[in-house]
Amino acid sequence: MEEAIQRDLNSDFNGVGEKLQVFKYPHPVLKKVAEPVTEFDADLEQFCKNLLHTMYTAPGIGLAAPQVGVSKRIFVLDISYQREDVTLADGSKEKRCTEFNPLVFINPVLKELDGEQLHEEGCLSLPGLYESVKRYSSLEVEYQNCSGEVKSMKAEELLSVCIQHENDHLEGIVFLDRLSLLKKNLLKKKFLKKKKNK
Ligand SMILES: [Zn+2]
Repeated sequence: MEEAIQRDLNSDFNGVGEKLQVFKYPHPVLKKVAEPVTEFDADLEQFCKNLLHTMYTAPGIGLAAPQVGVSKRIFVLDISYQREDVTLADGSKEKRCTEFNPLVFINPVLKELDGEQLHEEGCLSLPGLYESVKRYSSLEVEYQNCSGEVKSMKAEELLSVCIQHENDHLEGIVFLDRLSLLKKNLLKKKFLKKKKNK
């Protein structure tokens, strides 16, 4: 199924999905523990494509279902795609994404968490905020794909960080919650002030 999604994205990125609204912190849906996915049907596959489309156009490298207001245990990632400027016939410029490597995780379970790493993180639900967060350096994730097949993947470095960040969204946790209380309150204040002034 992921191969099918990849094929679609490569052939016509703009026609693949719908751009969904990304909810910003402190929207209550970001604090909810998400429900497991039980039905693996065409609607689920389309939803995953919409999530990917929204992530690529944002742009971001990961997006979890609760961030678009759907409290289900799903997230998508792509840490290796490229974005480039393309000049259209009328002279206007457009951003095009190429070399997609979409990953879809449904009902993920993290195991074999090991080591420690610090990585600067950002979040589409907290635009403009970046901070180093302490995470495990390696892990194994067991998950289902769009067809419901159980898969597993080992991850380290950036991929491991992204999986932990997105998996946190399924538990109602944003990266601010992983910081010291002092730092969290400081950044939270900064973010809410900026949001209000917009
Ligand atoms: Zn996030």
